[in-house]
Amino acid sequence: MSIPIHTYDAVVVGAGLAGLAAARELKRQGKNVVVLTKLHPLRSHSGAAQGGINAAFAEKDSVELHEFDTVKGSDYLADQDAVEFMCQTAPEAVRWVEKMGAVFSRTEDGKIAQRPFGGQSHPRACYAKDRTGLTLLQTLFEQTNRLGVDFLDEWYVSDVIYDQESGAVNGVVAYDIKTSKFTIFNAKAVMFATGGYGRAFKINSNAHANTGDALSIVARHGLPLEDMEFVQFHPTGLAGTGILMSEAARGEGGKLINSEGERFMEKYAPDKMELGPRDLVSRSITQEILEGRGVGPDKDAVFLDLTHLGEEKIMARLPELRDLALTFLGLDMIKEPIMIAATAHYSMGGIPVTVAGHVRKNPTETVTGFYAAGECACVSVHGANRLGANSVLEAMLFGRHVGQTIASDLDNLTLNPAKESDADTAIQEMQTILKHNGEQRVPDLRSRLQASMTENAGVFRTAESLKKQKEIIKELHELYKDIRIDDKSEVYNTDLQEAIELGHMLDYAAFVVDGALARKESRGAHFRNDFTKRDDKKFLKHTYAYMGKRGAIKLEYADVVLGKFEPQERTY
Ligand SMILES: Cc1cc2nc3c(=O)[nH]c(=O)nc-3n(C[C@H](O)[C@H](O)[C@H](O)COP(=O)(O)OP(=O)(O)OC[C@H]3O[C@@H](n4cnc5c(N)ncnc54)[C@H](O)[C@@H]3O)c2cc1C
Repeated sequence: MSIPIHTYDAVVVGAGLAGLAAARELKRQGKNVVVLTKLHPLRSHSGAAQGGINAAFAEKDSVELHEFDTVKGSDYLADQDAVEFMCQTAPEAVRWVEKMGAVFSRTEDGKIAQRPFGGQSHPRACYAKDRTGLTLLQTLFEQTNRLGVDFLDEWYVSDVIYDQESGAVNGVVAYDIKTSKFTIFNAKAVMFATGGYGRAFKINSNAHANTGDALSIVARHGLPLEDMEFVQFHPTGLAGTGILMSEAARGEGGKLINSEGERFMEKYAPDKMELGPRDLVSRSITQEILEGRGVGPDKDAVFLDLTHLGEEKIMARLPELRDLALTFLGLDMIKEPIMIAATAHYSMGGIPVTVAGHVRKNPTETVTGFYAAGECACVSVHGANRLGANSVLEAMLFGRHVGQTIASDLDNLTLNPAKESDADTAIQEMQTILKHNGEQRVPDLRSRLQASMTENAGVFRTAESLKKQKEIIKELHELYKDIRIDDKSEVYNTDLQEAIELGHMLDYAAFVVDGALARKESRGAHFRNDFTKRDDKKFLKHTYAYMGKRGAIKLEYADVVLGKFEPQERTY
């Protein structure tokens, strides 16, 4: 079988905000770029972002306050050089996308409206009703098309071509989901913009596609993943499903109430109340439920009450949220409180990159020709806990920035010709899944992984729960070798794709658990019942984790880039 080899200057994997912003920059600078995406671009998870995008341009706000809130929110684990760059560039980046056609909600006097979000000292989230992500995504998709960027959608990227000896990346291996046929995309530069991995948890707010494929693709080549133990649990997912009720609901004045009618955030964050940062509010909700003050048939939720806002405000500011709650819970937030609980939402960790977007080989060296941005990357602006409305910003702003980096690096990069054998691993993986007729079913293994991750590596963690989870993942890895899929065809084989995705999920879930087990402290979204305090002496460090032989994971630690904000105790 001969494998077609296509040549480009740059290949961008992913068509969310990060991938599109990069592709636009590359094309604008006359580079030959292709975007590969397993979904249609407009179905990327960026389009689900409801609440907003931060930029400090209000009169009483300042870039320095945005930086401070972000660093404090991160529990001091964010790299302050990256935070500085993001917060300083944010106002210009929002104007940039506005000028290209993104229609933001406005104040009476015509300025871009900004709403309060958790952990922020000023209303800073610019928004387009509760459809901010979709508005931005549509704008960037339109603009990339206008410039004539090549898109190949419904293409699944299975591998990156990485030559360990030269330390350079020279393309990717992908198959067309319509035909299951492989093609090699040979390029001087590859950028991963593949989004998050919330689907490893049972209760999550993420799109089905958020299976974090790129993380394990990178890890399988012996490259590190950073801070994988930091998974954000959003406080307000719809009870039972985890579908997101944006923080905008609390930003607009939503109250959290337990079964005793208590507005319980008074106990946990007396100043900020419902607008405490996400890690704190999620723990508070979970604590109320664990102590028996939950609501609903299984007492596993609390109320989110928006009735006092009135119909007009809800319909003007939160129409999408109302629809979701009506559809999935049958509750109308105009008339009655809805039920919510914490939901796995965002991955702070990911592929380590420099501020310019170069993928790191270890804390001090980078990989030639390899870049990443957006949720799959860890730059790290969010540290141990991301603030709401900072990640749409990160994806778009760093996406654009990394596109610029690639454009200027291209002259100094060489194209090492790809060989057909570069596709061997990916072909082997597909063939094994198609041919093996074992006993195990993909949906069963996936459900076991998701349920056990939510239970043992969720909002609250202990050495015991994490060790148990480590064993479960080990067992699931073994069972995965014995799977069988029923659809053996080559046309739109979603069974096959889901099996490949499960392989990735199992791989990086082990990184989440190992990182969490080794981090014997509580910081941001990572909370250990057996080590409830932050320990700056031992753990003011980034975790770098490498996949070793036979699945063993090797951990090392790297310094955090500190700056003008000294670590302090974090109270709200
Ligand atoms: C429900 C929800 C609401 C949110 N609301 C907000 C908000 O209001 N404000 C905020 O700041 N953040 C919000 N976030 C977070 C934010 O939306 C995301 O972090 C951000 O949009 C991620 O953008 P991205 O470009 O990195 O990835 P995505 O938009 O997730 O795009 C990933 C792309 O990668 C492609 N891909 C993945 N794997 C492969 C593969 N193997 N082969 C080919 N293609 C692949 C996909 O097709 C897709 O195009 C929200 C998240 C969720 C889930």
